[in-house]
Amino acid sequence: MSFSLFGDKFTRHTGIARLMEDMDEGLRTPGAVMLGGGNPAQIPAMDDYFHQLLLQMHQEGKLTEALCNYDGPRGKALLLDALATLLREELGWQISPKNIALTNGSQSAFFYLFNLYAGRRADSSKKRVLFPLTPEYLGYADAGLDEDLFIAARPNIELLPEGQFKYHVDFDHLSITDEIGLICVSRPTNPTGNVITDEELLHLDMLAQQHDIPLLIDNAYGLPFPGIIFSEARPLWNPNIILCMSLSKLGLPGARCGIIVADEKVIDAIGNMNGIISLAPGSVGPAIATEMIQRGDLLRLSETVIKPFYQQRVQETISIIRRYLPQDRCLIHKPEGAIFLWLWFKDLPITTELLYQRLKQRGVLMVPGHFFFPGLAHDWPHMHQCMRMNYVPEGEKIERAIIILAEEIERAWDER
Ligand code: PLP
Repeated sequence: MSFSLFGDKFTRHTGIARLMEDMDEGLRTPGAVMLGGGNPAQIPAMDDYFHQLLLQMHQEGKLTEALCNYDGPRGKALLLDALATLLREELGWQISPKNIALTNGSQSAFFYLFNLYAGRRADSSKKRVLFPLTPEYLGYADAGLDEDLFIAARPNIELLPEGQFKYHVDFDHLSITDEIGLICVSRPTNPTGNVITDEELLHLDMLAQQHDIPLLIDNAYGLPFPGIIFSEARPLWNPNIILCMSLSKLGLPGARCGIIVADEKVIDAIGNMNGIISLAPGSVGPAIATEMIQRGDLLRLSETVIKPFYQQRVQETISIIRRYLPQDRCLIHKPEGAIFLWLWFKDLPITTELLYQRLKQRGVLMVPGHFFFPGLAHDWPHMHQCMRMNYVPEGEKIERAIIILAEEIERAWDER
């Protein structure tokens, strides 16, 4: 069987495909501890809330209405209105419903946006997407129609007390050449839990405007919802910024609802792409979100249930790690948001790919660091010394996994 060039590229067994297979396998293996995937937590209070909300929406005929009708290509008009009002009132942004479009998950928004701004142009120049700070989200890595769509910049590393560290954008070495068509950053960042500072964000915004290229901010975990952010950080939007949001980390990944807030021209383009690729985005997630906004629940639950849940889990997980792994064996990226911890096993004698294999054999799944450096031109030892773990499972499971991790780290040092 032979495919087109598109087929060849998009049927490869990518890092993300392997991760999804591992998750599937892990879910079916009794006793396995899955710290690999990006599934949000099943928070009991949110589960109860969704259960009640769906029952009521069903009784009021709102679910059937959502399921039995196509929305427009920019997505459910009621949600676009409600979101524009919410963002205007909460954050003071000058936006109208014409500044918002929905997609089937923000993952598909990245596919649209990367290929809208990067790749071959009519004048035969080629543009690329710049990640100003790697490590970055694994889901970006294969979303380009063209090969080599991404360029990434290594960070500065600040060492912090208590065995923690934080990445910063290395503005001294960040070069924005004519080749760059889009700058993209996740804030909070998957995999590291980093939140680039307000100053860094303003600096990137200024550079993007100076070079007349958009700045894409992936706000899947950020403010004002789902609000999984533990540091002081101001959300930023202006017509040069393309802000991507999602319902997934509220606890609704199956709703596949992404939200793009951008200049009207960008939104028109997204509407046309939606029309061609999916006619219209799905309606059920947007119907739920509209209801949550109208009831005043979206921000309230983000602040009072979702954020405290993750904040407590991350603190518990760090204390478990420190019970078994001292600072000279394992540094931890300062957890400022998102649902992962990023561990740095400095000078580890084996790669984290090998460590991943050994952990997998013992029923523990984490993701080796090297997947999270899309676009980095040169190999960097640091890539092979890091590992991402999801801190969502209960403490007892996390502890079981960390005991095995600590044993495997010691084994690697002993083998030297
Ligand atoms: N952006 C980041 C940084 C993520 O970690 C994820 C999912 O894990 C997404 C976007 C994708 O979200 P969605 O479910 O909306 O496609």
